Amino acid sequence: MRTLRSGVLIGGLVVLATMPGRGQDQTQAVLDSIEARRDHYAQLARRIWDLAEVGYRETESAALLQQELRSAGFRIETGVAGMPTSFVASYGEGQPVIAILAEYDALPGITQDAVADRKPLATKDAGHACGHNLFGTGSTAAGIAVKEWMARSGAKGTIRVYGTPAEEGGAGKVYMVRGGLFRDVDAVLHWHAGARNDASPGSSLANLSAKFRFRGLSAHAAGAPERGRSALDGVEAFNHMANLMREHVPEDTRIHYVITNGGAAPNVVPDFAEVYYYVRHPDAKQVAEIFPRLLKAAEGAAMGTGTTVEHEIIHAVYSMLRSDALARVMDRNLRKIGGIQYTAEEQAFAERIRPSLGSDLPPVTEAGRIEPFELKEAGGSTDVADVSWVVPTTGLYTATWVPGTPSHSWQALATSGTSIGVKGMLVAAKTLSLTAIDLFKDARTLGEAKAEHRKRVGPDFVYTALLGNRPPPLDYRAK
Ligand SMILES: [Zn+2]
Ligand SMILES: [Zn+2]
Repeated sequence: MRTLRSGVLIGGLVVLATMPGRGQDQTQAVLDSIEARRDHYAQLARRIWDLAEVGYRETESAALLQQELRSAGFRIETGVAGMPTSFVASYGEGQPVIAILAEYDALPGITQDAVADRKPLATKDAGHACGHNLFGTGSTAAGIAVKEWMARSGAKGTIRVYGTPAEEGGAGKVYMVRGGLFRDVDAVLHWHAGARNDASPGSSLANLSAKFRFRGLSAHAAGAPERGRSALDGVEAFNHMANLMREHVPEDTRIHYVITNGGAAPNVVPDFAEVYYYVRHPDAKQVAEIFPRLLKAAEGAAMGTGTTVEHEIIHAVYSMLRSDALARVMDRNLRKIGGIQYTAEEQAFAERIRPSLGSDLPPVTEAGRIEPFELKEAGGSTDVADVSWVVPTTGLYTATWVPGTPSHSWQALATSGTSIGVKGMLVAAKTLSLTAIDLFKDARTLGEAKAEHRKRVGPDFVYTALLGNRPPPLDYRAK
């Protein structure tokens, strides 16, 4: 029913919201306002895809999103929590405060054109292989649609878009949580590019990363080896101990490393070597217990090789805390919006890219489906998790990529620059805005979410950042 547009006077009160059809009208207006700017948002997402700025260097990408929000009537605070490329955009006053997260950092070391065949770009050194160009744009679009609904309906409260830099290993959100920027927020919504449509509550792994820097003494490796002390020996002895340690850590632990500096020439005993570690576990407490054991191994390795070692924690995040109360609302709205239908051209793109994705792929039609609502365990980590421990938080994935596409792949990067990516982004923007609007209208759901959150974090929980009090590593992507 979409015919009733005027108010009805009942007992001296104008009743609008409870009239059949009225709510549907409002919903349609929100969806229409996003749809009307489809081309504009497609261009914005593509612009950020082209920029492909890496963590803490997303200057232009952040500015583009801020510009968008500013001209829509948001107040903008930039450079929050000590990060020049962060921002908080707000519209409205007072409670409830509903926040939508926006990411926009690219990944270094991967480039690809927006085509279905492997085609790296020599002109670039980074790419949106995690689809954060879509993430930032879609969340901004959702924030603006909610703002317009608030202006039309006179709804009370505040809608915020948090511009959160450096998700990929920079943990931008952790500094925002640590800085108290979510203190007055009632619910946080987010989404992510993906190969399926899914609003199920999910978990993720807590993760702590650190660089270990060994220092020794240079010497001619053949002429005077006894004068040298190899920093690389320190790294190798350390890695060996860490690999032995795997047998004596809790079952679900993941430890991985890369040697980021192992010397330059075999005939020079390296006086410097560096190894970069990640330690992950579903429980942040376990990560906090395993890491000091790794430190001991590093010290032991240094002692045994006549070198010295120091470490720097690069980033650390909690594991994701689910909010079933919020996830149910998100799932209901995702089902209302529905999945993605390809045009003939998009279908041809999908068919062409699929052989490169390996065998045993889900059918292409999966882009049109919504996944069943159930708890999903995740293998990765995200800084959204820290937000989820201080505010009830929920998110969704949409099929911005061809079904079967893994994130951080050239195929994900390619598709994030196409109309398939834009379609998934708009499904997310619409779902996020309807969910935010539902929460503004329904104090009971927010209350339930808070009660569930209190129960999940437990009575004694006090948030402390797993990365301690280090400042944001603004130069972690420096070459
Ligand atoms: Zn990623
Ligand atoms: Zn990502």
